[in-house]
Formats: sequence, C-alpha cells, structure tokens
Amino acid sequence: LSYYFKQIEKNQHLNAINEVFFDSATKQANLVQQKIENGTAGKLAGMVIGIKDNICYLDHKVSASSKMLDGFVSPYSSTVVNRLLQEDAIIIGRLNCDEFAMGGSNETSYFGPVKNAVDEERVAGGSSGGSAVAVQADMCLAALGTDTGGSVRQPAAFCGCIGFKPTYGRISRYGIIAYASSFDQVGTLTSSVSDAALLLEVLAGVDDNDSTVSSIPVPAYSQHLSQVGKRKIAVLKETIENDALDSEIKSAILNAIETLKSQGHNVEYVSFDLLDYMVPAYYVLTTAEASSNLSRYDGVHYGYRNMQAESLNQLYKNSRAEGFGEEVKRRILLGAFVLSAGYYDAYYQKAQQVRRLIREKVEALLTDFDFLLSPVTPTPAFKMGENMQDPLVMYMADIYTVLASLAGIPAVALPLGNNKKGLPLSVQLMTKHFNEQELLSLSHRFL
Ligand code: GLN
Repeated sequence: LSYYFKQIEKNQHLNAINEVFFDSATKQANLVQQKIENGTAGKLAGMVIGIKDNICYLDHKVSASSKMLDGFVSPYSSTVVNRLLQEDAIIIGRLNCDEFAMGGSNETSYFGPVKNAVDEERVAGGSSGGSAVAVQADMCLAALGTDTGGSVRQPAAFCGCIGFKPTYGRISRYGIIAYASSFDQVGTLTSSVSDAALLLEVLAGVDDNDSTVSSIPVPAYSQHLSQVGKRKIAVLKETIENDALDSEIKSAILNAIETLKSQGHNVEYVSFDLLDYMVPAYYVLTTAEASSNLSRYDGVHYGYRNMQAESLNQLYKNSRAEGFGEEVKRRILLGAFVLSAGYYDAYYQKAQQVRRLIREKVEALLTDFDFLLSPVTPTPAFKMGENMQDPLVMYMADIYTVLASLAGIPAVALPLGNNKKGLPLSVQLMTKHFNEQELLSLSHRFL
C-alpha cells in the first residue's frame, strides 16, 4: 500500500485522483494483513483498487466529478464496493472522470482534465480517464470504471491498459451514479487479463438491489483462462476500411488479425452497414435517459445548493445552473427535447427502433461468428482541447464503442503496443451476451 501511496504522490500532476482514502485504505490493509496471517483472506486479498468517482462507498465522498455533488457523502456502499471489500481488496481512492461520466476525454470534470502519462499534452480518454491513468502510472493495481458508451474501453485504449465491459446485466448497478440506465455497466481497467477475470468473478452476479442483473451463474472466470478452442471471428469491414481510421491503428489491427489466424482462429471480413446510425441512436437514447436521471439534482436532496434563491423554483434553477457544467447541461437539454411532446416519435422512438435493428443485426452476426473485431477508437489519444470546440467531433469518436453498448454485449479493449510517438494502440473484441468466459480466454491467449 505504501508503494501505491508513493506512486500517487509522484504522479499528482496527472490529476487522476479526486481523493485518496488514506485512513480507510490503511485500516483495511491492516485488517487484510491479519486475515492473511490467519489464513482467512479472500480472493482479492491485498489487491489495491481505485474506483471511479461515480461509485458509492459508505461514508466516503462521491462527486461524479461535478460541482453539483459538492460535499456529498454517500450514506451506503454500492454492491461492487461491498463485493470488493468482502474479498479483502483495498480501495485506495476515488478517481477523476468526466462530469457524470459524460465525455470522451476527461476534460469535462469539475476537477480539471486528467493527463495521459505517456504525453501530458494529450488526454487520458474518458469518461473513466482517472481510472485508466491510475493503472497506467501504477497508482493502483486495477481500477473500476463505468462504461455507458465506451468509457472503460476508450480510456484503456488511450493509456495502454485492458478495458473490459461485461454484458449489460452481468454486474449490479446498485450504488452507481446513473447516467443512462439501460446502458450503464461497471467495467474493469487492468494490466492483465487474469486480473480482469478475477475481478469480474467477484463483482458479477445476482443482487437483490438491482433487478436488471441476470441470474445466469457466474463462472470462476480466472480458473478457465486457458480453455479456448479455434473460434470464428468477424472483422467488421467498414470499421477497418474507413478513411477516418488512423493508419498506425489500422496496421496494428491487421497484424493482430494475422496473430489470431496463426493461433488457429478463422477470421473473416463481414459487412456491417449500420455504422452511420450508431452515434445518433446512442446520443438520442442516452441524453433522454440522462435528462430523467439527472432531474433528482435539485439543490435540495444532494450536494450543491444556491443560497441566494428567494423561491423554490429559483432554488432549483440557480442550483442546477451553477452546479452542472456545460456538457451536462447540453445533454439534459437535448434529452428533454427528444422526449418532448411532438418530437418523441421523431427522435426517441425512432432511436429505440434503430437500437433494436442494431441489436438484431449483432445477434445475427453472433450466431454465425463467436467474436466481432473492430478498432476501439479512430485515433490514438488526441491533444487536450483538440476536440472540445465541437461536441459533434467528440461524439463521433465514440463510433466503434457504442455498438457493444447499444447491443448490450460484452467487449474488451486490448493493447497492441505503441505508435511511433509512443502512444498506445488497441483493438476491440466483442462477443455474445454472457460469453465473458470465452472473451477473456481469447484475450488471454492473444496477449
Ligand atoms: N463518450 C461517451 C459519452 O460521452 C461514453 C461515455 C460513457 O461511457 N460513460 O456518452
């Protein structure tokens, strides 16, 4: 633990951590030490883990990197935190992220952007940027993030770690600050596949507090990593044969395809013609859900309150105007618009139909193939500020990650070394609902 405290101190300038839990982490470490001596320690004994600052931990502050939750202390723990602690992990702190997990560069955080450890002028990715950099710079062994449309996978890709998003419904969302509830999933950022497998095994499975969690049994993922036979992999052609894809990412992916072939897998290119609909459908649906989820921040129940208001309406108005950042406001407005009478059918309902088509197409592909392969991102980590001028440019960069989110399938971002500038490159693999075991095993073998 003291090693990680030192690493945090050394890397303070990267701004990955919103708060270090010195006291509770030290206390837990002492407790775990005793358990190890007694031979009663759990599966994660001594694993030092950072959690994204939108995951609730009893008696600890949680802010979603927003002024809106200023000073808010969680009155309960999320299921994922309880499960980590039950297995004797040590939670070292809460990690910076985009405000309410809305963003793809960690530049919308109230606490300022997170810097990429390989090039401090570049972004860490988002929204779980702090989680990625904390793992990248060895400030913790592993981190939890949340992935609504790529927020675990994209920062993992920008920072050279492994970002794993399970099937929607595999891990409980109880105690996770909601962004878009039909998309949100907890995911892991790790430097090895076996750590991702071990964490998933602990975190996944039924929870009385979240009815969307599946009752499908949770395998001991980490025990079966070597078992994967020859599999059929579909490369989504349009995602690779696309002028917008960075040439070094493309050649790294072509090499990865050769490696997969040499490991005996059958790799084929297939056409995926719904690519243009991904980002629009994702942003209509997630902003709609966000506008509803974020209506609870009224200046009364949580965190920030404007003290000058003279009426209740003014209190709501002022608190929300001052508490939320620009990107969050943009999404609340967009979401309220697509849900409003007169526009509901044209936008929200249409997007739901598109989501269904995407899901059906993906399911059809995954009856013929075991895995889908695509890039994670169109470019490596970009410069700070570069995509902040135009929200559409930022949204378009989510084109490859939102597919798995719209379809609710598991997906992983795997590192493929660095480009000439030393920036990490990556590839994405996706699979059928609840086929995490094979996805982890294939990734383990591949790396
Ligand atoms: N970049 C995407 C967005 O801004 C993904 C965010 C996420 O997965 N939380 O919505």
